[in-house]
Amino acid sequence: MKLRKRLAMLAMVCAVVMLAAVQGYGGHAASSGSSHWTYEGESGPEHWGTLSPQYATCSTGSNQSPINLHAAYEAKLDRVAFSYQGTPLNIINNGHTIQVNYQPGSTVTVDAQTYELLQFHFHTPSEHKVNGESFKMEMHLVHKKGEGELAVVGVLMKEGQANRFLDAIIQHIPKHAEERSMVEAVTINAADVLPESGEYFHYYGSLTTPPCSEGVNWSVLKTPVEASAAQIEAFHSVMGDNARPVQQVNQRFLLMSTQ
Ligand SMILES: [Zn+2]
Repeated sequence: MKLRKRLAMLAMVCAVVMLAAVQGYGGHAASSGSSHWTYEGESGPEHWGTLSPQYATCSTGSNQSPINLHAAYEAKLDRVAFSYQGTPLNIINNGHTIQVNYQPGSTVTVDAQTYELLQFHFHTPSEHKVNGESFKMEMHLVHKKGEGELAVVGVLMKEGQANRFLDAIIQHIPKHAEERSMVEAVTINAADVLPESGEYFHYYGSLTTPPCSEGVNWSVLKTPVEASAAQIEAFHSVMGDNARPVQQVNQRFLLMSTQ
């Protein structure tokens, strides 16, 4: 029962904007009676665990995300198998991130389990580090299986050439919290943002936002993709800094694919 409750909560909060889309909320956690949280000051990441009993895992959890990805064990992992379709552009600014909700029908298979793509969203700068190095931006593709088990794929972004995939989103980015843009005429496909190389880091962690629920299957693609300085700024100017600091690895094994 306890596990079930936890999974339900995990599904509820990570898919906060799915709820928002269905119920017409702005997507803010306050809608479900949870406490206000931010990325700085008294409601910042160091305090998340005490803002609400529901957020306790943010400070007591020992399998938290993000982390610094280093000293990973090389392993022959299956490639992350993406089966993504196009989706009408449906963007929401939930006050914490810019999120694009996905229509049903796109999946990813990782660890021989298939998960459905719910949404993707952005962090500036990156949340994960690689050998201590931070990146300008990170995109999280959030997937769910059955009862609510989550798998998140991270795509690191560095400054370079303009990224065509991001253009459609930037053109319609909702500038203010609680705003959304639904552009039926524009179809995007998250497959277009993925790097060619399938190499990735793999570990078990958590949501990187309250309630920081654990049991999340993480795959962070090793090869960063490029985005122009102007594109990164287009996101940063709306979201601000929205990266949780890296957390302790503790007893976890980090794996790194070799193919
Ligand atoms: Zn995220």
